[in-house]
Amino acid sequence: MREQHLRPSPISATVDFEADGVQHGFLRLPYSRDDSAWGSVMIPITVVKNGVGPTALFTGGNHGDEYEGPIALFDLARRLDAAEVQGRVIIVPAMNYPAFRDATRTSPIDKGNMNRSFPGRPDGTVTEKIADYFQRVLLPLADIVLDFHSGGKTLDFLPFCAAHILHDKEQEASAFDFVKAFGAPFSMKMLEIDAVGMYDTAAEEMGKIFITTELGGGGSATAKSAAIAKRGAMNVLRRAGIIKGAIDAQPTQWLDMPSGDCFAFAEDGGLVEFLVDLGEAVEPGSVIARIHPTSRTGAEPIDVHAKMAGMLVARHFPGLIKAGDCCAVLAVAV
Ligand SMILES: [Zn+2]
Repeated sequence: MREQHLRPSPISATVDFEADGVQHGFLRLPYSRDDSAWGSVMIPITVVKNGVGPTALFTGGNHGDEYEGPIALFDLARRLDAAEVQGRVIIVPAMNYPAFRDATRTSPIDKGNMNRSFPGRPDGTVTEKIADYFQRVLLPLADIVLDFHSGGKTLDFLPFCAAHILHDKEQEASAFDFVKAFGAPFSMKMLEIDAVGMYDTAAEEMGKIFITTELGGGGSATAKSAAIAKRGAMNVLRRAGIIKGAIDAQPTQWLDMPSGDCFAFAEDGGLVEFLVDLGEAVEPGSVIARIHPTSRTGAEPIDVHAKMAGMLVARHFPGLIKAGDCCAVLAVAV
């Protein structure tokens, strides 16, 4: 268990989480550096509260090069009216704000990957201090947590909303109920490569309803993927009863990641040629991608094979691949 005598977070909020109305402000994190001796990192935050009700905590930019979340959440923060809310909505469009400002997955300050930094440290790096603030201040306020992700610059995904298989089946059922309400074209029972240090795990261990997304990738957003994110955020607020109105229900294909065989990693580097596109089916042993050696002509490509039958739900995005890169992810229709 964590020590209970941790020092207070160095982060101070310029908003009052208990006040009714719409407040746009910052999480201010002191960060003394060469170009700003007593300077701070200013993480934008919006709180919309009206009376008594559940609290939704919405985050984007956990990874700085994933854009559907920030697009949907800067938009929601600008538009949400306190009069239409019953309860509270806390919006942080760019959680790892230094990474978001640099358009990088991890922080340019300390190379911190926000989603491997939980529970964080109040006396740690900038990224660890932000994680600690979410761990000890924001997550305890929340009933439902929605954390937007996409593939970033190096992956591309079929658009899905997801939750995890949990020991607490009641908590798990609630999460999948919110995944359904989100209404992405695909809904995923998600398996993590390594769940240690994730925001997801921190929220789930606190008993919160936690859902996440992967809505595209390549380091940008499309009109379609941004629209999915915006609609999903509103649907989650409706499902939570925080805003009134019927859920904008959408057809969804449920998917499952049954085992580690879902993942195919590159064992060689080179020029990657996919033989299958996102959403297409593969059979066990079939070739998903071919990695062409680039140092000489006349050399045979290395094939990346499917270890199971399924659908291609994610792929390496750039045209060149390195040994160890995640090349492809498969899932099966439920
Ligand atoms: Zn991400």
